Amino acid sequence: MPMYDYKCEKCNELWEEHLSMTNNKKPCGEKCPHCDEENSVILHIGGFPGVNVDTTLTPDKVTGGKWSEITNRIKSSLPERYSKNIGSDMSGHRWKG
Ligand SMILES: [Zn+2]
Repeated sequence: MPMYDYKCEKCNELWEEHLSMTNNKKPCGEKCPHCDEENSVILHIGGFPGVNVDTTLTPDKVTGGKWSEITNRIKSSLPERYSKNIGSDMSGHRWKG
């Protein structure tokens, strides 16, 4: 199960949670477990790499569409036998480099 980083905008606490890919927005907007502030939890994206595809990638929902842009670039630069496995079903997968 992929690991996601979350942050409280109120107390700036950072923590990680193991959630399914479809559940990765779960704590967002809920009560912070550290300071009890309501609606303060956001999905934290640390150092988004732009076009480099070697670190944590997150779904379109949290990247404003960057995910599709990046996967499309990967697909167009790889032979089909590799690129066919790259897609939205890998959203949230943490690449081991
Ligand atoms: Zn907090």
